[in-house]
Amino acid sequence: MFLLEQWKKVLNKLENEVTAVTFDLWINTLTPVQYGNDELILLAPSVTAKNQVNQPGIFEKITKCVRQEFTPYTFVRITDNQEYEDMIRKQEEEIEKIETERVNKSKFNKKYTFENFVVGKSNQVVCAAMQSVAEHPSEKFNPLFIYGGVGLGKTHLLHAVGNYLSEHNPELNVLYVTCEKFTNDYVDSIRKGKDKSNLDFRDKYRSVDVLMIDDIQFISNKMGIQEEFFHTFNDLYQNNKQIIIASDRPPKEMSSLEERLRSRFSSGLIQDIQEPDYETKVAIIKKKCSQEGYLVDEDVVDFIAQKTNTNIRDMEGILSKVVFYSSLQNKTHASMEDAYEALKDYGETEKTNLDAEKIMNTVCDFFKVSRDDLIGKKKNKEIVEPRQLCVYLIDDMLSIPLKAIGELFGGRDHTTIMHARDKISKQVKINPHIRTLVNDIKSRLLKY
Ligand code: ADP
Ligand code: MG
Repeated sequence: MFLLEQWKKVLNKLENEVTAVTFDLWINTLTPVQYGNDELILLAPSVTAKNQVNQPGIFEKITKCVRQEFTPYTFVRITDNQEYEDMIRKQEEEIEKIETERVNKSKFNKKYTFENFVVGKSNQVVCAAMQSVAEHPSEKFNPLFIYGGVGLGKTHLLHAVGNYLSEHNPELNVLYVTCEKFTNDYVDSIRKGKDKSNLDFRDKYRSVDVLMIDDIQFISNKMGIQEEFFHTFNDLYQNNKQIIIASDRPPKEMSSLEERLRSRFSSGLIQDIQEPDYETKVAIIKKKCSQEGYLVDEDVVDFIAQKTNTNIRDMEGILSKVVFYSSLQNKTHASMEDAYEALKDYGETEKTNLDAEKIMNTVCDFFKVSRDDLIGKKKNKEIVEPRQLCVYLIDDMLSIPLKAIGELFGGRDHTTIMHARDKISKQVKINPHIRTLVNDIKSRLLKY
């Protein structure tokens, strides 16, 4: 070992420099524990020993010999156990802080900032609430529960809080997870069994300063997930940590939500985000253009804002399609011609306006089966086929997790859902009858 070997050489030198008593009683009891940045740290077995070797005459001799064996600039520091422990703890904290900052910096979508968020009538209150929580975490609204339809900017705002905190409060441990991620982490910790992994889970979720959970509407009532969330929530809340939750609907409309969670959510601020009006849509399109460097004619902006629904994600999709069409023709600006072209098959994108409810109702209608049967346990072909088709359609037309689809179908396991989906998607390829059925239902759903 380099450090010990060097120290032995120092000792050999020191033996000739001090009295035998000083050497045996004090100097020989020192242990070299750390060397770096031109500093050698020596640990003394007691405070008395430390004070003894720190005495002027002795300390200089130690330094002199150390400098002969290490570098001519080496500083010597003598510590006792307590001091050394404190020092190590500080070093660890420093490393942890740097690590937290590094992780925080990388985990939020850089494009989703408050600066890039266009504020209009529909979202000004929610945006102000999120900003104020970002500026004063745990002091303003806690918990803050935001809700609103698909593509209205909830995820954007959560990341904006994350980005803001990474910049202004980098030492805070900020965690953003989707409900699905929270659930998977928990299920993993159960599956691995043993106390250890469960501790990992608790460590991760209960050591945060700001916890953000996206799409909480997918929280399931199985395997004690709500129970675990309840405890996580309480623990953080009692320790005055900030909690922000996003959902597509208010707590009172989340049917499978336990009452105690509902009341926890209600104890803070519940704020909705509404559909953007025309002016806001125009402003968002313009912002997007300048951000992405898109060049489009003024009337194109107007046209897109008028013709698209209120889902901003859809609107962005149409915009990039318009720009893409114009680039195919090597034009510098996208014109109305490109806009007409891009919006021609808008019906296809319109499907994101759909929800599971609509698909289930349409399937029930189409096959004349009841809703109870659709999600129930009956196994006759007349019921099973619509059920599997419905699963397939929901999976195909909406981007929701298999687990959540399972919930819609009376709490079926996600592997059952996967099986149904795979079966129909195979059929669609080889069986014209099924293909026609799927197309008919889809065109019903996409009619607008
Ligand atoms: P949600 O989570 O509510 O479904 P997102 O936050 O994913 O919606 O938003 C969808 C897209 O629309 C994102 O690309 C987001 O940047 C954009 N967006 C939503 N609202 C705004 C806004 N007010 N200003 C700028 N972009 C927005
Ligand atoms: Mg979202």
